[in-house]
Amino acid sequence: MTHFPRIAGQLHAEQVSLATIGQLYGTPCYIYSRRAIESAWQELDQALEPHPHQICYAVKANSNLAVLNLMARMGSGFDVVSGGELQRVLAAGGDPAKVVFSGVGKTNSELELALSSGVGCINLESVTEIGRLEKIAGDLGVVAPVALRVNPDVDAQTHPYISTGLKENKFGVDINGAVKIYHRIAASKHLSAIGIDCHIGSQLTQLEPLVDAVERLLLVVDELAKQDITLDHIDVGGGLGIRYQDEQPPSMTDYANLLLKLFAGRTEHIYVEPGRSLVGNSGVLLTQVIGLKPGDEKNFALVDAAMNDLLRPTLYSAWHDIQPVSESTEHNRSWDVVGPICETGDFLGQNRQLGIAEDDLLAVMSCGAYGFTMASNYNSRPKAAEVMVDGNQHHLIRKREEISQLFADEYLLAD
Ligand SMILES: *Cc1c(COP(=O)(O)O)cnc(C)c1O
Repeated sequence: MTHFPRIAGQLHAEQVSLATIGQLYGTPCYIYSRRAIESAWQELDQALEPHPHQICYAVKANSNLAVLNLMARMGSGFDVVSGGELQRVLAAGGDPAKVVFSGVGKTNSELELALSSGVGCINLESVTEIGRLEKIAGDLGVVAPVALRVNPDVDAQTHPYISTGLKENKFGVDINGAVKIYHRIAASKHLSAIGIDCHIGSQLTQLEPLVDAVERLLLVVDELAKQDITLDHIDVGGGLGIRYQDEQPPSMTDYANLLLKLFAGRTEHIYVEPGRSLVGNSGVLLTQVIGLKPGDEKNFALVDAAMNDLLRPTLYSAWHDIQPVSESTEHNRSWDVVGPICETGDFLGQNRQLGIAEDDLLAVMSCGAYGFTMASNYNSRPKAAEVMVDGNQHHLIRKREEISQLFADEYLLAD
């Protein structure tokens, strides 16, 4: 079911027309559907219901406080990868005890913040981090709850930039050395091994690599149990894909059922760290056509959103559907939809058959994940506004930046 229906020819978010939002809040503007977010989370939670579990929403997908707060209200946990994300979760009312802190290069001050905030688990990604955490926990006089992120060496069969579970990737520790490292953790007064973790990649459209990874984790867990190291949870990471174009990713229910099968008869909690699959199809980027530039080779539709607002097309060659807000037959041809930034890589979509005219509004679909969170101020462009639609209501959840904010923290030399 779509939360962005076309009603009387007009694209809506739930019951609010995108044209209204464009008028009220301006463009470019990110628009999220509250129902879409909540129903995705609840679908996963209910599907995992037969087994003790915890959903740790991956904050980096969309870290707006209003989004985090909706997650917190449903009882979600969070996967954070920086001190900044942890502070966002706390500011949004998230329960630190349900936070897992991942990240390949956590600094000492981030580890300190994690411990003093009482996070539920720190996912260790290297041997050097173990020593540093041990010292910090000792100084604070606490015992740090930890999981080891292992690298199961499976090919997630996704884009190379978002594959993370291969030996050649920087993440986690080699699964073959895991047992030895758990003994090192068990020997420490200041560390307590409570789980094991992996995350093999993102936008997975097949479940086989995940099955392989989880099976490898279970072997380690069983080996540890034989050696009297028992774990409370097994964190299988995130990564479930969504449909952008014609992908056929597994459904939330298929995904959950597979996990239930793998965990049948086991006592450990299942932890999952979904990001994209909870919010990706819950948001769109609204943009206005500045001008049309038809040509011999290419027709360019110049729009007011750019790669600084949505980086995925140029970074990952990602494909996002682009829909006119009002259907039109004008200038119907193949357009490259491009932003105003001084880079050839600044495009939102290429070769799109669209009927468009100047000043028309376009919606770039499936922008709820890795959209705003990857935005920058390149070309001194202020970051877009963000709006949450709830039924027939709309709420500003982030004000459009003002240009003066962009250089408010810069200083001239005295002489
Ligand atoms: C990015 C990330 C996730 C979420 O990935 P999705 O593909 O958005 O579900 C989960 N865990 C870790 C450690 C990550 O880095």
